[in-house]
Amino acid sequence: MIDGKKAKVVGLQFPDGLVRFSQDVKDRLEDERDILVILSGNSSFGSCDIDLDLLKRVDILFHFGHTRMFEIDKVEYIPVKIILDEGILDDLLKKSLFYIVSDKISLVTTPQYIDYLEYVRDFYEHNGITCSISKGDSRIKGSGMVLGCNFSAAKGFEEEVIFLGSGSFHPIGIKIATQKRVIRIDPLMQDIEEITVEKLLKQRYAVISKAMGFKSVGILVSSKIGQNRFDLAQKLYKETLGKGYKTYLIYTNLIRPESIGLKVDILVNTACPRIAIDDYVSFNKPILTPIEFDMILQDKITDEYKMDEIRMEDIYPIF
Ligand code: SF4
Repeated sequence: MIDGKKAKVVGLQFPDGLVRFSQDVKDRLEDERDILVILSGNSSFGSCDIDLDLLKRVDILFHFGHTRMFEIDKVEYIPVKIILDEGILDDLLKKSLFYIVSDKISLVTTPQYIDYLEYVRDFYEHNGITCSISKGDSRIKGSGMVLGCNFSAAKGFEEEVIFLGSGSFHPIGIKIATQKRVIRIDPLMQDIEEITVEKLLKQRYAVISKAMGFKSVGILVSSKIGQNRFDLAQKLYKETLGKGYKTYLIYTNLIRPESIGLKVDILVNTACPRIAIDDYVSFNKPILTPIEFDMILQDKITDEYKMDEIRMEDIYPIF
């Protein structure tokens, strides 16, 4: 790749969890070739987060740890996959048959496990269960893949979703976004669980109720290529201003509590949807998703909670 493109300056971008490998990769590349390798010191939260500044200075940028989201000439995605012990996976799949109640299910997973979906499908079909692995919308580049900002691959006609993966954000998001029964098969914890969402909903409605009565708001827009919903932010800005609230649009690359010094009552996050939900405790004021904020703005608080998701058409073209 480097030789084929005759690259002289190469950039490497790693997520935090893999950054420990970056020095070895850099040393090896420079030992083997007459090139300059530059390490990105910026964030790399997902395939949505390409270091566009570094990209301007290099002939090729290797973005490690995530699957492709954008076709950018000089960017090569190098995903990282988890290798599972097939004996453990087989045991989990056998146990999962006791949890599944429907004979038609959809299968989804995160990018790290995507290569196992066909194997899982074969197992269930062998056991008389029809499986669908959906393509999802255009933000999703692998059938059956879900992201923390997009659950479209789980929205088929099936009544039950099997999620292969770890953590609770994705399966909870799937359950809220699809209103279906969701079973998580967690190969790392070797655990199977039917997902419930009550705890998260309780947290979110507590944040919403704390935000009601606000007088001023900061609307956050991310400059990251795959998180930039500038159109949505502008729409919210105009509407909020029109209703007489003090409103500020804040354009930033990294959304961290300490980097937002504005004195406002609440924040609305149009960047990665996980920020408002996963990190809300680190902010010293309520931070809402655009959907939650709209409920307050329209004075329509309902118990039909909707997940904030990003579609490709929501992305503002910055590149
Ligand atoms: S927007 Fe958030 S959830 Fe979506 S890919 Fe980026 S980091 Fe992941």
